[in-house]
Amino acid sequence: MDTGSLSRPSDLEMLIGSRFEAGTEEPEVVINPRTGETIMKLPEASPEQIDAAVSAASLAFKSWSRTVPGARSALLLKLADRIEAEAEAFAGLEALNCGKPRHLVLRDEIPAIVDCFRFFAGAVRSMQGALAGEYLPGHTSMIRRDPIGVVASIAPWNYPLMMAAWKLAPALAGGNTVVIKPSEQTPLSTLKLAKVMAEIFPEGVVNVIVGRGETVGQSLISHPKVAMISLTGDIATGKKVLNAAAKSVKRTHLELGGKAPVIVFDDADLTEVIEGIKVFGYYNAGQDCTAACRIYAGAKIYDRFVADLSSAVSQLQFGRDNDDENDLGPLISPRQRSRVASFVERAADLKHVQITTGGKEGSGSGFFYEPTVIAGALQDDEIVRREVFGPVVSVTRFDDVEQAVSWANDSDYGLASSVWSKDIAKAMGTAAQLQYGCTWVNCHFMLVNEMPHGGLKQSGYGKDLSMYALEDYTAVRHVMVRTE
Ligand code: NAD
Repeated sequence: MDTGSLSRPSDLEMLIGSRFEAGTEEPEVVINPRTGETIMKLPEASPEQIDAAVSAASLAFKSWSRTVPGARSALLLKLADRIEAEAEAFAGLEALNCGKPRHLVLRDEIPAIVDCFRFFAGAVRSMQGALAGEYLPGHTSMIRRDPIGVVASIAPWNYPLMMAAWKLAPALAGGNTVVIKPSEQTPLSTLKLAKVMAEIFPEGVVNVIVGRGETVGQSLISHPKVAMISLTGDIATGKKVLNAAAKSVKRTHLELGGKAPVIVFDDADLTEVIEGIKVFGYYNAGQDCTAACRIYAGAKIYDRFVADLSSAVSQLQFGRDNDDENDLGPLISPRQRSRVASFVERAADLKHVQITTGGKEGSGSGFFYEPTVIAGALQDDEIVRREVFGPVVSVTRFDDVEQAVSWANDSDYGLASSVWSKDIAKAMGTAAQLQYGCTWVNCHFMLVNEMPHGGLKQSGYGKDLSMYALEDYTAVRHVMVRTE
């Protein structure tokens, strides 16, 4: 198997203030999901190390929060340049630790990550707000947007470096200091980022600690000096964050799961739809909270749609020795693969369901699962209702617009959705009725740093990306001056 530059990483220590140190507690096994091999065992942070990281961030807040936007912007731009210059190394780590095809990380993820830091470097210099003025005679009011304090950032395993960027860039731009914890399964790229950030930012502005959620994550979010918790993760973890936050009324920013509905009307350009879903239903092996995984297809095109989609999906490449040929990688862990497999098995047991392609684990020692299409699914089926987080797309037939909209909205999730039709008025009318943080029309999964990403309902709240994220990571304050 071509392992490219997937050599053992060298940056393995946490960043606490200006010190690099290894954790002193229980080691967590870090695995290469493409081969199943253990890359290393990484000890997790101790309670003292967590406290030291938060204390370093708290101390650094005093001066960092008083820097001018231009100064913060300059450092974010430096960080963007360094990531760009070391793109190969960062992409190698994501490939090693997540099993992602390296060419896709280089093509899609690294440029978006670099642009995220550049966007927030510019955004913080051009924030806008209400006019200062006299709303009470003899008194001048003005609005300030000030940093919040120490942000505890907790990231998931599906896009480790990108999620770190989404959390770090607006928080740092806004004048906050950060303690970030990557997922215990995918710490490697964030540990490399720590090395780079330590050369750019003043001591304590960014701290990186590693370890499991229930130990390190839980003590980090419960720390009294943490002012805000930012989580991208599971709904269940989001609820734990809310409980921890309630004790001292910390701010929270939650990006939780998704189950994106994709409404394909009878008049859609089927070739475009199939091409779109083939890519965006299965990108990152479907381990994506916006994945185009819950299709509602119009009754007239349903049969052709299922046949064409199944045939297109069966062409997707995975597990090939030459990684440049792979469209998708493995699942992150054996546990995640078993979870995906059990969803498919339960769906396959239903009489009305057909598995039209895939439906099995891949061969070899990596945690691959075949790209799968589940046709004939009904609205109340588990496969339609629950997030699978794997390369599995369900297709459900609908009869009219009202039914499609009501089924699409009948979900605990509210992150992303898409509508496909050549009739733009119908597509726009449908988009207006969907209860999702984002609706794409005749495309899916297109993220830009200028536009917000975030959910409704149990998908959470708070926006990543865009000016809205900068607003989330700063507090609105009113200052009134008596002038007479
Ligand atoms: P997870 O919730 O298990 O873990 C996410 C992070 O939370 C990890 O770093 C984990 O260590 C930490 N964590 C777990 N328990 C914790 C606790 N008690 N206290 C503090 N931290 C804790 O999620 P995951 O399995 O890593 O990621 C997959 C989930 O993330 C999916 O549900 C997916 O939809 C969601 N996700 C959402 C978005 C989004 O933008 N909405 C993006 C990516 C992933």
